[in-house]
Amino acid sequence: MQTELADFIRDRPEGREADAILRKCVHCGFCTATCPTYQLLGDDLDSPRGRIYLMKRVLEGAPVTGRTRLHLDRCLTCRSCESTCPSGVRYGRLVDIGRAVVEARTRRPAWDRARRSFLSFFLPRTRLFAAALGLGRLMRPLLPGELKKAVPASKPRGAWPRPRHARKMLVLAGCVQPALAPAINAAAARVLDRAGISLVEAPAAGCCGAVRFHLNRQEAGRDDMRALIDAWWPLVEGGSVEAIVMTASGCGATVREYAHFLGEDPHYRAKAERISSLTRDLCEVLERQMLPKLEGAGRVAFQSPCSLQHGQQIRGKVEALLARAGFELCGVDDAHLCCGSAGTYSLLQPELSGELRLRKLRALHAGGPARIATANIGCLAHLQAGTDTPVLHWIEVLDEVLQRTMPA
Ligand code: SF4
Ligand code: SF4
Repeated sequence: MQTELADFIRDRPEGREADAILRKCVHCGFCTATCPTYQLLGDDLDSPRGRIYLMKRVLEGAPVTGRTRLHLDRCLTCRSCESTCPSGVRYGRLVDIGRAVVEARTRRPAWDRARRSFLSFFLPRTRLFAAALGLGRLMRPLLPGELKKAVPASKPRGAWPRPRHARKMLVLAGCVQPALAPAINAAAARVLDRAGISLVEAPAAGCCGAVRFHLNRQEAGRDDMRALIDAWWPLVEGGSVEAIVMTASGCGATVREYAHFLGEDPHYRAKAERISSLTRDLCEVLERQMLPKLEGAGRVAFQSPCSLQHGQQIRGKVEALLARAGFELCGVDDAHLCCGSAGTYSLLQPELSGELRLRKLRALHAGGPARIATANIGCLAHLQAGTDTPVLHWIEVLDEVLQRTMPA
């Protein structure tokens, strides 16, 4: 595609990057077939091709309106289009640039600004979020049905093995996960302990930056990234950890790209590169370990989060791991499509998000699973709010059967 970027952005790093991405798009439209919002709305401006066209116009200096912003807001940033595109268009990078420009050139209604400011303030603050969740749980019996489902019941974390192995890995605690599902990282620590790896969390490590970055508070998101690097650095610098393990694929997709997000920051560029190079999803660590064949493991449907299969291009590894351990996996139609969680999307675009969840749950239930497994806390909470079938992180499912059949 030919481009002629406007003066305000042409010579800036993000302008050069956007220009290179736009020039790769040949407008073939293959990506529309796998775009969840195009499937729901049938409007080309709610497809990757249409959004790319809108962003091109914005970057070439055309007037920006609330309609432009709406079509970008409706994008889930699921990056399914990137997996489909034969020309290698980095849509995710382009939409980050496009959204920043559109945000700066339009003014949202006051209520929209207020809710975004609230989410940006509230979600990355682990203690505040945990306190609010605790209050919600106390009130749970009094809440009406739909609201009750949105407040997940608490589950015991279980024991965290004391670090005793020479092999050590760092795990990200994250912002909402410690409150919503503290059992996930503890389960990962128990399973890795059996494999001869001790998992440790760094004190004072907080949000990976994804929440605020994707709420279009991009500089605030970068500040969260820098703070997390600072918290991890003493352990990374000394070489005492061999990898940084992600149990939430949404965070993993972000931390893997720290080198990109902080590439223009001379103080953090090198550290960010080191952090990104050490980052592994949990399934990448466990795929190389011996796993026992478990009896009566049960029937599971795996929901592969977009941040795993599109964001990190990791496909089939969790499914292979669970099958190797003896689980019976249900087939899931349209597994490439988003469940509608997408960070804060479920809160900001509830209708589209709810319809995508309905479709995803229908596909997940089709094979009659006893449990649904996923790899991201956002998808887990979003899906669980729509079904009575237990939704768990896959490591919890594996750990539970290991503990039941082969106590440590
Ligand atoms: S993003 Fe890729 S698949 Fe979509 S229109 Fe452009 S070249 Fe075609
Ligand atoms: S990121 Fe997802 S929702 Fe957005 S344009 Fe691409 S496929 Fe569609």
